[in-house]
Amino acid sequence: MGLDHVTGLACVICGAVHEPAATRYTCAHCGDEGILDVRYDYERVRREMTPAALAARPRDHWRYRELLPLRGDLPLPALAVGWTPVHAAPRLAAALGLAGPLLVKDDGRNPTASFKDRASSVGVMKALEAGAQAIACASTGNAASSLAGFAAAVGLESWIFVPERAPEPKVTQLLIFGAHVVHVAGPYEDAYRLSMEACARWGWYNRNCAHNSYLVEGKKTCGLEIAEQTGADVPDWVVLSVGDGCTIAGVWKGLKEMHRLGFIPRLPRLLGVQAEGAQPIREAWLAGRDLKPGPAATIADSICVGHPRNWRKAIAAIRESGGSLIAVADGEILEAMRRTARLGGVFGEPAGVASVAGVGRAVAEGLIPRTASVLAVITGNGLKDVKTAATAVPPAHHIPPELAALEKLV
Ligand SMILES: *Cc1c(COP(=O)(O)O)cnc(C)c1O
Repeated sequence: MGLDHVTGLACVICGAVHEPAATRYTCAHCGDEGILDVRYDYERVRREMTPAALAARPRDHWRYRELLPLRGDLPLPALAVGWTPVHAAPRLAAALGLAGPLLVKDDGRNPTASFKDRASSVGVMKALEAGAQAIACASTGNAASSLAGFAAAVGLESWIFVPERAPEPKVTQLLIFGAHVVHVAGPYEDAYRLSMEACARWGWYNRNCAHNSYLVEGKKTCGLEIAEQTGADVPDWVVLSVGDGCTIAGVWKGLKEMHRLGFIPRLPRLLGVQAEGAQPIREAWLAGRDLKPGPAATIADSICVGHPRNWRKAIAAIRESGGSLIAVADGEILEAMRRTARLGGVFGEPAGVASVAGVGRAVAEGLIPRTASVLAVITGNGLKDVKTAATAVPPAHHIPPELAALEKLV
């Protein structure tokens, strides 16, 4: 492999095409707003990434190497990222009012327990290609713990800027992986700005997703997998929670590529799910206007984003798919956490199961027909935030070690 499948990096605003240098983050003409999109030679990909070729490859996301922007001469991280399982969840479907099949894709099964590993694994490879010694990001948690894990796996230093609000298990995960953790007083937006300044000042590789188009290519592999794993039975709807908007936009790119290459006969609709307390992208979508940053408050810390960077791409993806964007209350997220675990066998973190809450709401409102087939991505593992999970359930029973005491309970 090599970068020979990549034809260039196109600016989403002016369309100018740039050479795929590892440190080309944004458009040379449009500045910070000029987010780039990696373009490929799809005819060439079609000839090489055939179903037969894929069938013989390892079950991780590097199997899609023709659709990843990597030089290919450096060893890949040893951690098994991607190719997360897709389970049928009929009892969960029934509880959500669905008569059609419901699939859940458990992305909490990635090496550091979230979807973000898809992006971080590509990010550390680009940092190595750029010859960087360190890599940095601002994150409410998962992007950071994932980056710390993959940096550790390939021997890079990592600098992580976290807002005050980040859940403790995620911060502990960072520290265990040996990251330099900087708690920035203030919201995510301040941590983000400081991380950008630090990358410019010390030449660290920048893993901020909205800013680095290569990372979206990593996120896209979830869409590539959904297509390969469901094939002719590709679901009518794919449902994802939305914070910054990179995840849903990335998954859409992957689905479109697999459609173009003939792996799926049609494209699903996308349902984006935001939390009621943090829904600036949905508000922009409903009003048909540009995004207005606002306050953000929800138990789903991974999607608690008041100033999303990738709202344009997210809205464009949802619109192009004929899909929709809805919001769910924290109470619905807690209920989805219980239901997904008890009826689907998957323990997801709040932002992870927001997708399931969204399915319930969308079916109730008639947005998703009862007979539709649906796939919800569970983007993060529930052990990432046990404090919130504990509020969703009654406490355990405490008894003396006697059968008589147990008898009262059973
Ligand atoms: C980051 C994240 C999301 C949302 O992704 P965005 O790109 O911010 O929209 C959803 N769920 C989990 C668990 C995440 O970590």
